[in-house]
This record gives sequence, structure tokens and C-alpha cells, in this order.
Amino acid sequence: MKYALVDGVRQEATSKLLGACIGCGSPMIAKCGTKKLHHWAHKGRLECDHWWEPETEWHRNWKNQFPKDWQEVRHVAENGEVHIADVKTPKGEALEFQYSALHPDELAAREAFYGAQMTWIASGTRLKRDAEAFRRAVFSAAPDFIAELRAWRMPIAKAPAIVQRWAGSRCRVFLDLGDLDFSALRLSVNYGLLWHVIYNPGSVSFMPILKDAVIGHYLSGKQLLGFESHSAENQRQLLALEAQLARRGRRRFRF
Ligand SMILES: [Zn+2]
Repeated sequence: MKYALVDGVRQEATSKLLGACIGCGSPMIAKCGTKKLHHWAHKGRLECDHWWEPETEWHRNWKNQFPKDWQEVRHVAENGEVHIADVKTPKGEALEFQYSALHPDELAAREAFYGAQMTWIASGTRLKRDAEAFRRAVFSAAPDFIAELRAWRMPIAKAPAIVQRWAGSRCRVFLDLGDLDFSALRLSVNYGLLWHVIYNPGSVSFMPILKDAVIGHYLSGKQLLGFESHSAENQRQLLALEAQLARRGRRRFRF
């Protein structure tokens, strides 16, 4: 954990500091070694939240995009079950940053716990083959003419493993593929993208969204910004072509 309560105030781990767990209130020890990120661990017992995964630099970078008080928030379900959300917004939206693979049962349990307002940000770079397979899938998928923003669509049966693993999700899923090169798609921006994976009956769509827009969306309700949809681009090109033909027609008429 990044935070524990020290005299009732959330604090990051510093050497020899003692604190209390945000989830269960039991004693926490600051772990400030050189190999792992500085963190808090329960004194002499396992993590109280069995959904907790060891934090990586990737987790911390994501959490740090949000205010301190939104990070590692205790969430209690109606049945008294307690878990700690990676980030919870004042509107009650839970953001979970998932680095390791998730068993489908746990995926379903966590979505039931946090409700439909939760969002997954999943790392797509843990396994090199996942990232490469995803990139190939986007390049081989067909333009999605129904989506409101630029997206590509393929049958779910042909989708790569990482996409299939999240197929049971009922919530928003963004894949974070880091700096993977998508320049062949000729988007106006090639860095700082997340991929919104949208599951339709029988098919799946991949929609690039600006990472900053996703953060802005949860920070201050900003719109999720992506790129011009394939249908809007077609429409625009068609209108341009018609205008060009009309101009030519007028010229011919003068002769
Ligand atoms: Zn605890």
C-alpha cells in the first residue's frame, strides 16, 4: 500500500514509521528497502484485502495522476465486505489499475462489489506477446463505421488473448500499452494513448482515446477525447468530392 494512517493522517511510507491500515485498522510497518517501491505492509499478517496486488511503478504512476485523498479509498459494500479501491472519485467511480491477469471469477466479484460505475485500466505490457498480438489485431481489424469515434472492429473469436481475458467485463476497460508504436494508423497523435476496448455481441471494438482525456474525465468530468470516426471522415471526403465536382461542372458550363 502507498498510504497508511499515521495519527489519523494518510502518509506515505518512510523508514521506521508505524501506521494503521486504511482497510482494517491493524498495525502497518513502513517497508523502505532498495529493491521494491517504498510501501506499507501489515505487521505479521497477510494483506486484509485479498484483491490487493503488489504495487509496481506502473500502479504508482497511475495513482499519482489523482489527488491524494482519492487514492486507496476504503469501500464498504452493503453486506459489510471491505476492499480498498485504487482510486475512488467523489462521484463514487472506482478506478482499478490491474497489472497482473485476473481470474474471471474475481473480475466478476470485483465488478459486483464496485458497481457499474467502475473502470478498469489494464496493463497490456506485462507480457510482450500480449502487446504485439494486440497491435497486430488493431492493424488487421476493419474500420468500425458505427462507433462515434475512430475505432476498429473484429469478431470476438479472432481477438487476441488479452482482449478475450477481459471479455466478461460489464464495465469500462482501457488497455494501457505504454509507448507501443501505432503510427501506421496515421492518427494525429501517436503517444499517450489508451485503448478503450468495447465489447459488442459477437464482436469487439478498439478505440484509441487520449490518456490525458481519460484522466481529465475522472478528475473533472471532461469528455473522453478520441479521433474523428471513420463514418464522419467518409462523410467529409464525400462532401469535398461533391464540391469539387460541382466546381468542375460550373467550369465546363462556361465553355
Ligand atoms: Zn488491513
